[in-house]
Amino acid sequence: MKKILVTGGAGFIGSHICLKLLEKGYTPVVFDNLTNGHPDAVPDEAIFIQGDIRKKKALDSVFAAHSPLAVIHLAGLIEAGQSMSSPGLFYDVNVTGSQVLFASMQQYDCKKIVFSSTAAVYGNSEKYLIDESEPVCPTNPYGRSKAIVETILADYCKIHGFRALALRYFNAAGADPAGRAGERHEPETHLIPLCLMAAKNNGRAMSVFGTDYPTPDGTCVRDYVHVDDLADAHIAALQYAMKATDPAFEQINIGREEGSSVLEVLKLCEKITNCRLKINFKERRAGDPYRLVSHNEKAKNLLGWEPKFTDLEDIISHAWKFMEQADR
Ligand code: UDP
Repeated sequence: MKKILVTGGAGFIGSHICLKLLEKGYTPVVFDNLTNGHPDAVPDEAIFIQGDIRKKKALDSVFAAHSPLAVIHLAGLIEAGQSMSSPGLFYDVNVTGSQVLFASMQQYDCKKIVFSSTAAVYGNSEKYLIDESEPVCPTNPYGRSKAIVETILADYCKIHGFRALALRYFNAAGADPAGRAGERHEPETHLIPLCLMAAKNNGRAMSVFGTDYPTPDGTCVRDYVHVDDLADAHIAALQYAMKATDPAFEQINIGREEGSSVLEVLKLCEKITNCRLKINFKERRAGDPYRLVSHNEKAKNLLGWEPKFTDLEDIISHAWKFMEQADR
């Protein structure tokens, strides 16, 4: 069996990656502490182990029992807003947890890794389309925790011969087009699922955080990328890392090269759900970069990856379909 360790594999992005790994003939070994994941999100054909990446003994026993060919490392905390009030927790889970994982990988001579990084490492950039050569300047502890792990990984590549790709995702959205998986954070803090939940609860108000940003309508701009495309990017990155023999480290943006403002997202959600949302305009959310839009040339050139889902309406429609069917 060609096993791939997927930390955080029971989460939103992880569950979609597991489906793709199975399609490609790999067996995902999911290691997840279920803080944000759901055991029923792990496909039946995958191996599931409940555990925390900060516990070395638990990780060691996974490497000893399964000898994975490589690791896709997604386990971590992801809410940028929450990181502004609990930075220590983010550094503990995201940084300490990653260090423990890398130590275990080294011990068991498993040196290929695809790491889940984020566009939040860039912070506020002057450029509309941000490429990988832009300075790393995060505006919140979440982005900083991921930037630190990228630095650690670069050292592991140079010194210990790891082969690592850090995928800097822009905003993951949507759901499996076949309806097998979707987004189920508890509590939910992300814009698109919150809008859809508000529509479903007919009239629950949506908050818009900040209306005075230097953007066309004053609200924050993000680049929403379909989770199915994101999962494809992980498979391409995994195959790239497994083919390569020389130790090297790459950071690669995964986005659609298209920005949408909070108000534009709200309007699309209203159209798709056929429901008018009440809007509460609020103060800016602390730590929010005003605009994050990807340049994705490097992913195209290095991984042969480009997004299949180029229309945000399709992306949100898939999320809505998943949310509607979850109730049936
Ligand atoms: N946002 C908002 N209202 C909400 C949730 C999010 O206005 O109820 C804004 C948030 O401030 C940010 C954008 O929507 O500017 C995307 O936020 P999200 O949490 O979905 O992703 P992030 O970019 O923070 O990872």
